[in-house]
Amino acid sequence: MTTTHAYAATDAQSKLAPFEFQRRELREHDVHIEVLFCGVCHSDLHQARNEWKNTMFPVVPGHEIVGRVTKVGPKVSKYKAGDLVGVGCLVDSCRTCASCQEGLEQYCENGFVGTYNGQDRVTGAVTYGGYSTQLVVDEAFVLRVPENLDPAGVAPLLCAGITTYSPLRTWGAGPGKKVGIVGLGGLGHMGVKLAHAMGAHVVLFTTSPSKIDDAKRLGADEVVISKNQAEMDAHANSFDLIVNTVAAQHDLNPFINLLKRDGTLTLVGAPEHDHPSPQVFNLIMKRRRLAGSLIGGIAETQEMLDFCGKHGITSDIEMIPMQKINEAYERMLKSDVKYRFVIDLDSLRK
Ligand SMILES: [Zn+2]
Ligand SMILES: [Zn+2]
Repeated sequence: MTTTHAYAATDAQSKLAPFEFQRRELREHDVHIEVLFCGVCHSDLHQARNEWKNTMFPVVPGHEIVGRVTKVGPKVSKYKAGDLVGVGCLVDSCRTCASCQEGLEQYCENGFVGTYNGQDRVTGAVTYGGYSTQLVVDEAFVLRVPENLDPAGVAPLLCAGITTYSPLRTWGAGPGKKVGIVGLGGLGHMGVKLAHAMGAHVVLFTTSPSKIDDAKRLGADEVVISKNQAEMDAHANSFDLIVNTVAAQHDLNPFINLLKRDGTLTLVGAPEHDHPSPQVFNLIMKRRRLAGSLIGGIAETQEMLDFCGKHGITSDIEMIPMQKINEAYERMLKSDVKYRFVIDLDSLRK
């Protein structure tokens, strides 16, 4: 067995620092992956700093992982050495509950096993994520990455991509539909690209006029400055779906007012403090829906990757060596990244 090189946080106050450990011996259905790239998600930072009060230290974050299969367990049938693969937020689930049976492992009623800060269902060991050179995952939770895409740009699809793809599909984004995306960060920029590729009329909502040109480059048909009441009013009662990626606490009513009858506002950003409850009349008068959505199941994540392969979609990224992760966290807090940091794990193999 070879040593896995990683970066870990040892407590909520410390910066991430070099950390070494051994991955488990391959079980029958396990795939051994040499990690090439790992995206940097906001959840990584929340978890490293114990902001959700459930971190098991040391924590090795990272759940936007792309790598090459190096070897497989004796009963693996889907993958072989040399395959380009991805791993997202989940590495296991109970596989028997109603949600798992429907391929919605992210809603596993017995709790899915997170790629990091989760607990292995066999040994109870804490899982370590993709800020590491190697990964061992059951083949049922491994995704196939289209070879025509830049693998570094694929990494963020495994969380940011599927988090926006799933609600767009669930609520029918496509030709003839008017779809809003709120916020142009890691999630929002993927939402714009995906909704555009699905054929919807895409409107990006942002508070910063500086993002207008970029939003249009990414595929937005229109950009609305959400602080401008006149611009908002011009879109009243017109949206089929709005996907809200903003994680900061804010008033949802201005966006609910933009939905047409039976329209849906879906929340995918995870705020530290809840949004205030919206006005009930805004919902009942037009049978509007306020919904939430969590990443996506394994089958849907594969569907998303195949969709991105077909349409040539990847994330806009800034590549960093592992050694720059603490700096990247500080910049991420200031939204100073277009639009996702991706770690080049070769920086840990030297
Ligand atoms: Zn994530
Ligand atoms: Zn389950």
